[in-house]
Order: sequence, then structure tokens, then C-alpha cells
Amino acid sequence: MANAEITTPLKTGRKGQFYSRAGADNGETSMLLVAEPILGSAEKTALCDVIDSGWITMGDRVRSFERMFASVHGTDDAVAVNSCTAALHLILEALGIGRADEVLVPSLTFVATLNCVLYVGATPIFVDVASLDTPLMSIEDAEARVTPKTRAIILMHYAGYLPADEDWRSFAERHNLVIIEDAAHAVGVQGVGRYGDATAFSFYGNKNMTTAEGGMVLARDPKVLSQIRQMRGHGITLDMRQRLKGRTPHYDVTMLGFNYRMDELRAAIGLVQLERLAMWNAKRKSLTDIYRQRLASLCPDVLVPFRAGAVTANHIMPVILPPDANRDEVVALLMQAGIQTTIHYSPVHRLSYYAKAFPNVRLPVTEAYAARELSLPLHPAMVSAQVDRVAAALADALTTL
Ligand SMILES: *Cc1c(COP(=O)(O)O)cnc(C)c1O
Repeated sequence: MANAEITTPLKTGRKGQFYSRAGADNGETSMLLVAEPILGSAEKTALCDVIDSGWITMGDRVRSFERMFASVHGTDDAVAVNSCTAALHLILEALGIGRADEVLVPSLTFVATLNCVLYVGATPIFVDVASLDTPLMSIEDAEARVTPKTRAIILMHYAGYLPADEDWRSFAERHNLVIIEDAAHAVGVQGVGRYGDATAFSFYGNKNMTTAEGGMVLARDPKVLSQIRQMRGHGITLDMRQRLKGRTPHYDVTMLGFNYRMDELRAAIGLVQLERLAMWNAKRKSLTDIYRQRLASLCPDVLVPFRAGAVTANHIMPVILPPDANRDEVVALLMQAGIQTTIHYSPVHRLSYYAKAFPNVRLPVTEAYAARELSLPLHPAMVSAQVDRVAAALADALTTL
């Protein structure tokens, strides 16, 4: 159970499976999942329309998805790609981050946040989080780790919560750094994408909206965005759609590119999902508010990070167990009660590959947080009675131990 990226099953509702759709308790064993995509007839229709159209990749739907995504986030344009990881990689490439450079990164994140730094040959410098209550990057620790080689900082909006942007902007200006937002948790939040020179989003199956696999880039400088657009498709100056429509067989390649394209099937799903994103995020907020109330009364020893009313996409529901609680036992008891939980995250610097590459990293607050964190089920298909059930089961588990 390392993290939700790995543990979240993408198949739902299969008969006889260990898990089944939340709310659809039809007498089979029903596991309340940590995260669950909402997909239905609108997505099916959209997929059929793409197949009937005969145009299956990088067409009008991808372009519409980009425009609609940009407008939802208050920007002029966006570039769709096939994952958030690809988005982060393209951002670092386009911003010219490379071998001689250091990049400040969190460790309380999914590995993709810093893998992109390794892809371009730069050095990730791990920075601690501020506190158990605010598990976002600590500006004091970032300050302490800046060197003359530091070129960039990647802010990850953990659980969907945005940091105080004025502080980070002045920090970046003071040290002449670019800010990159890993906004995989923060799609649809007011203000996301405004901190950074560029921002990456994910539409993986457990995110607030999904295209199964997929991602999006926003960038402040239109030149950076257009470079990312070209790099996404092998660095070719004209994309396939333009070539076919323009009846010219010629193309040129003016930069090293990648194949990080999005296809029409995914964009069609994305367009449908985007229309419901605000409603789903509102549902996540109300479920989170109910969690906060129930946990405060039933489990007063459990800490719920961040403040009610903070600006957030409520992507996950992290709680901090009391210091003496045995988390593995709590997980097992909740599982017996039909409740899946997960951990966000095993700190990246402690995972074998990174521990070997970057020994002697010490991040005491990140480590303390990760040792006690548990993520409870949170997704818009849930109803408030299920929140009550989780809070009651957690209270039971903690008193049983
Ligand atoms: C999911 C996630 C990613 C990776 O997204 P993909 O679209 O699967 O590449 C990156 N960063 C964070 C914080 C994530 O949660």
C-alpha cells in the first residue's frame, strides 16, 4: 500500500471482485474505496462519437479540450499531453533546466514530481514540509537549501491545497528561480497556475477528473507554451492535423521532441468530465467539511491537516493518527469494516532507488508526517452516511487498539 497511484483499482463494479462501486451496495462485499472515477453514459457516447468520426488522435476534440481547460482555469490556452509526468518533463525541458542545475522538490509527493528533474539530468534537492498541520513545502527550509546552482522550485499542491502565493513569488524573485506547479491534486481550484511559470495537471484514474491517462500544461509565457506544444509531437513544426488539412506533405523538426500526445478518445472523455468538475469539487468540499465535523467529535485525538475553508480541490482526505496508534492495525481494522485506506506518501527520499542515489537526506517533519498519515475515502460518489461510517470505524479502531 505505498500510495493511491498504485493501489487504486481502475476497474469498478466487477462482480465477485474485492471492490465494487461505492453506494451501489447490492449485497455483495462492498469496499468503500479511497478514490473512484465517475464514468457513465456521457463518456460512452463521447467515445462512440470519436470512433464514428474516424479521427482518433490530435484533432478538434484535443484542441477544444485545451481551450475549455484553459478557460476553466482563467488562462488563454493550454497544451494537452498523455500524462502529468510528461507535462512536468516538457516544462523542465522548455524552461531550459538541465545538467548543471538544482531544483528544490518536496519528498512528500508522488515520485513523478522529481523524476522529471532526473530526466533532464538536473539534481533534485529535497525540502521538508512546514508542519504536520500544513504539509506543504517549508519556505524556511527551502531558503536554507538554496545554492547558487538552484534554478527552479517545484511546488506540489498536496491534497489540493494551495500555498500562500505572495511568499513563494518573492522567494523565487529573491533567488531568481522559476516556479513549477505540480497541480496533479489541484485541478479546477481558483488560483492554481498563477504561482508558477508553468503548471502540470493529471487526469489519471484517481484524480478529481480523469481521461484514464492524460495531463495538461499551463504556462505564463505563450512562447514557452508553444514550445511545449511542438515538443509534445516530436518537435515537428506542423502537427498531423495541420498537414492533412493543409495538404502539404512537408514538415520540419526544429527541436528535440517527444511523443507525449493526447488522443481524441481521451480528449472526448475530458470534455465531458470537465463540465462536471466544479460540481464534483463542490461535493468533495462538502464531504470534507462533514469529515472535519465527525472526526472532531468522534476522534478528537486525530489531527486533520489544513483549515476548513482553505482554498483547495479536496483531492484526498489525509488525517494524522495519534502518535501511539499502530497504523497497520488501524488499516487492517478499517479493511475488515469494508473501508480502503492508503498513505500519501511514503516519502520519496526513503524509497530504495532514491535512498541509494541521494543518501543522508533528513527531512524530520516529512518523515514524522508520513509515519502517522492515513488517507480516508473521498470521492464525489460518496454520501454523507459513508463519511459517518468511516469516522465511526476509525474511532472504533483507535479505541480497540
Ligand atoms: C498522479 C500524480 C502525478 C503523476 O500523474 P500521471 O498523470 O500519472 O503522470 C504527479 N504528481 C502527483 C502529485 C500526482 O499525484
